[in-house]
Amino acid sequence: MAIISCPFCGQRISDKAAACSKCAGDLSSNTPEQLALIEREKKNRKLQSLMNQSMLSMLLFLGGFGILYWWQPASHSYNQYASNIAIVLGFSWYVVTRARIILLKRK
Ligand SMILES: [Zn+2]
Repeated sequence: MAIISCPFCGQRISDKAAACSKCAGDLSSNTPEQLALIEREKKNRKLQSLMNQSMLSMLLFLGGFGILYWWQPASHSYNQYASNIAIVLGFSWYVVTRARIILLKRK
């Protein structure tokens, strides 16, 4: 017996169950191969969305530096705060997203 995640609700359930114990989704019509395929597609979609997020966070991070570099906002100005926030947010978002990608790939 293996533990899979339900293709309907994503909860961890047994692959031998005929129906999901959490959402009562019908699993009997799906072969293990189909379930594995659904699982893989789901994982790929999630990976794709995380990749997009890491691109966006990188843009935010670089955008923050871009503001500092090209506009050279006066210290304590709104633009300087905005660029600092963009740098910090972009960087933390990027780190978190990369960690989530690594975790997802390890699964
Ligand atoms: Zn379910």
